[in-house]
Amino acid sequence: MTALAKTKTPAFDVAKIRTDFPILSRTVHGKPLVYLDSAASAQKPQAVIDAITRAYTQDYANVHRGAYYLSETSTAAYEAAREKVRAFINAKSLSEVVFTKGATEAINLVAATYGRKFLKAGDEIVLTAVEHHSNIVPWQLLRDAVGCELKIVPVNLDGSIDVAEFAKVIGPRTKLVAIAHVSNVLGTVLPVREIADLAHAAGAKIILDGCQGIVHQHVDVQALGCDFYVFSGHKLYGPTGIGVLWARAELLDAMPPYQGGGDMIDSVTFAKTTWAPAPAKFEAGTPPIVQAIGLGAAIDYLNSIDRAAAAAHEDTLLRYAMTSLAQIPGMKLIGTARHKAAVQSFVMEGAHPHDLATVLDRSGVCVRAGHHCAQPLMEILGVSATTRASFAIYNTMDEVDALVTALRRAQEVLL
Ligand code: PMP
Repeated sequence: MTALAKTKTPAFDVAKIRTDFPILSRTVHGKPLVYLDSAASAQKPQAVIDAITRAYTQDYANVHRGAYYLSETSTAAYEAAREKVRAFINAKSLSEVVFTKGATEAINLVAATYGRKFLKAGDEIVLTAVEHHSNIVPWQLLRDAVGCELKIVPVNLDGSIDVAEFAKVIGPRTKLVAIAHVSNVLGTVLPVREIADLAHAAGAKIILDGCQGIVHQHVDVQALGCDFYVFSGHKLYGPTGIGVLWARAELLDAMPPYQGGGDMIDSVTFAKTTWAPAPAKFEAGTPPIVQAIGLGAAIDYLNSIDRAAAAAHEDTLLRYAMTSLAQIPGMKLIGTARHKAAVQSFVMEGAHPHDLATVLDRSGVCVRAGHHCAQPLMEILGVSATTRASFAIYNTMDEVDALVTALRRAQEVLL
């Protein structure tokens, strides 16, 4: 490791951050845990765990319906979480923030409501070659229902995607552009603002799958110029079972409900039901109350740290990992675009990614192996699977070293 590469990012005390995440002090197979799978799901700070415990031990009741004290405090905490999300992404109003169970549900919601109402045979949806299955399959279901078509923007060998390719594919038939903000396999940060401008110039709407994007950078939905933005709480240091759909108010107003049930209605008779305004219109049934509160606590936590310094720290980890991994014989890095977030896929000659991940696990190193829910991308890359290390605010340069050492050992075992 070079002295420069190992220099700590000023103003970012990763040792202090690590003490906020209790799980990081445990061992696995007798080795210190080296958790490099945060792109799949991030670990949780104590503040989030405490907020969840507090909600269940002190403030728990169903929301929106009770006239008693506990239901009011529970409702207040749930709605306070919505305000935290609103401020975090700079949405114009609370009614633009819909809680879902995750990004997957949020995309399915848009496909099933906006898609079925506004798209028809002959219309086109533009995706990229790097999309997660969550941002492919819902559009295929829509295609099969209404007869629209999917157009795919290609990816370059280094994992970058050219805006010029969007300009070729987006046209008068395009009704929707549905793309990742950041690729979960390659780490590529897509030039979403420019793509949004192209979409709008063609009269189309744009939905951003922000699962990986919101984790690594500040998101301002208004500045991004998108129409829909979705993400999952569990990748943002919050709990599972909670996600967010943000959409422009006029779009949510125009969309029919996704599911019917309690809480989403204005009035119900057997003859006719009218809907509550957004966001309630899209939150049928008892919502993930405590999960939303937990997400609010995760946002509070992120607001309490220097996020710009955290992003710089992650970038330093990524650059160091890329340099160190590249020195391993037989190593091929997958995803080397200039503008990328702290996610690195790779393949190692002669070692299947699954075997590699299993051997690394014996050293306490958690990485992901497989197609990462991006089978079409794997086909384009000509691989069946990759191994992926992903870095979060709590990872260290020493953990990058541990990964590299474990990979070298794995090579001895497997080759
Ligand atoms: N999109 C991307 C880019 C992702 O990384 C993921 C999670 N791997 C998803 C969508 C789906 O998220 P979830 O399973 O939390 O709904």
